[in-house]
Amino acid sequence: MIAVEHLTKCYGDFIAVSDLSFEIDEGHVYGFLGPNGAGKSTTMNIMTGCLSATEGHVRINGYDIFEEPKQAKRKIGYLPEQPPLYMNETPAEYLKFVGEAKGLKGLELKKQIEDVAGQTKIDHVMDRLISNLSKGYRQRVGIAQALLGSPQVIILDEPTVGLDPIQIIEIRDLIRQLGEDHTVILSSHILSEVQAICEKVLIISQGKLVAFDKPENLEKLLLASNGITFTAEASKEEIDAILPEISRITEWDVKTQEDGLTAVSVRTGSENVKEISRELFFAFADKKKAILEMSSKKANLEDVFIELTEGDDRAVSDSLEESGVDVE
Ligand code: ADP
Ligand code: MG
Repeated sequence: MIAVEHLTKCYGDFIAVSDLSFEIDEGHVYGFLGPNGAGKSTTMNIMTGCLSATEGHVRINGYDIFEEPKQAKRKIGYLPEQPPLYMNETPAEYLKFVGEAKGLKGLELKKQIEDVAGQTKIDHVMDRLISNLSKGYRQRVGIAQALLGSPQVIILDEPTVGLDPIQIIEIRDLIRQLGEDHTVILSSHILSEVQAICEKVLIISQGKLVAFDKPENLEKLLLASNGITFTAEASKEEIDAILPEISRITEWDVKTQEDGLTAVSVRTGSENVKEISRELFFAFADKKKAILEMSSKKANLEDVFIELTEGDDRAVSDSLEESGVDVE
């Protein structure tokens, strides 16, 4: 439904988006995840025809956003990072203005405004000034304007930024609902948010696509680094003989310590670290070799993100701090 092909955007010498290609299918909620400065807004602005590309193409249902903008843009509703709201208007006036700009008129316009106001639950604030609405309600008005014209795809750039926790929950619920009959693409620099709402995640770092998968598969990506470390009363040779018996252990590293014990670190490539720990325990016990300490580590999406965006020092530590991850 949306094909982004070799998209590149340069601001002067600076490459904000670099050779980005991906496809969006109908009917899913997609998350565009990346640290601040990764190129999310730039990509969304290009996908929605608000910004030109330096190179590459964006096709919406086959229509090129640059060559056939009218047909292409009709399929898309967009809420930019800075919602284009007029503070001294009411939602009713503002939605009428946007609807007309999208070519709606008369009864159809009236009906659509009622529909989107109902969907975004702003019916009861339609005649208040936007400047007097809370940020959560302003964001709803922004989403309502994106829904006008019945686009199939809704693109939301950081829709929960600056909202309080209750507003965030409400906007996430609204996005989930929209996902039932729209294709939704939202950007976020917060992992837990993307994990909570999205069925597929594109991770973008320094203008490049570094991963595109389901949240649960992204975790699997790092399963290889799911690991167990233990110290045993056994020689390196003995350990090298025991470990191949445990099928799900893919790699190991053995170090003889000064105290005569051996420190072993294994990678499992499996989800079931606990089961493997148990197998290790009994395999060593069978050979009368004691394991004196054992600990395991299971990778999560946070780890995937850190690993994949490593070196993205444009803003990675800021965004991780905001998302509640401890940055040492
Ligand atoms: P994100 O939305 O992921 O935070 P952006 O797409 O806004 O990232 O920005 C990507 C990079 O491009 C950033 O380093 C930003 O500073 C830079 N950038 C964005 N817009 C402009 C512009 N108009 N001129 C120069 N640099 C820009
Ligand atoms: Mg942005």
